[in-house]
Amino acid sequence: MFFSAKPLRFVPLLILTGFLFASTSLAQSEFKLDGIIIETNAKHIDPVAFKAKITLAFELLKTKAPNDYATMKSFIGKIRAYQASGANFNEDIMTIDIAKATFDASLEWLTSVLAHETTHIKKYKDTGKKFGDAHLLTDKKAALQIMINEELDCNKVQLAVLEKVGGAKYEIDYLRAQKGDHFDIDKDGDYDMDDYKGRKW
Ligand SMILES: [Zn+2]
Repeated sequence: MFFSAKPLRFVPLLILTGFLFASTSLAQSEFKLDGIIIETNAKHIDPVAFKAKITLAFELLKTKAPNDYATMKSFIGKIRAYQASGANFNEDIMTIDIAKATFDASLEWLTSVLAHETTHIKKYKDTGKKFGDAHLLTDKKAALQIMINEELDCNKVQLAVLEKVGGAKYEIDYLRAQKGDHFDIDKDGDYDMDDYKGRKW
């Protein structure tokens, strides 16, 4: 009776905290695939499908492009379902983000994207620069060129992998036709939040 009133006031907060925790853990889960953390996220991609297709992509890369697979293994700590695709240097663990549109492409394309994003992260690990540190330059044209050069390097690796894993001709042709500026979605000559927000892939 002496203690009965006060602790009750914490009950709603506990319920709320418990609910938030439960909904977060339901939306996200992770498991390890050959040493790499795979983080599913129901908000972005169906977790069962994500697990299945990423597993197939690993198998395909390991079988058809073992050197690229080894590179991915040595540089990447996590692959996660996310709202936009890309190499994510801002996590504690080097992470590849995969968005729904990338995920829904062919298995061969998805596999080649793993090699593309691995190359960005390898470049960061080799040089300490994020996308060539283009964001530090005041000369926007020079910054764009640095980013284009990095994209072309990553596309080159991706193209080789796409060919090794048996990508379709239209995918190979599409990738060959890229000029390294595909990140500049709004085509205003720079890469900024407008581009990021305009991305679905
Ligand atoms: Zn890229």
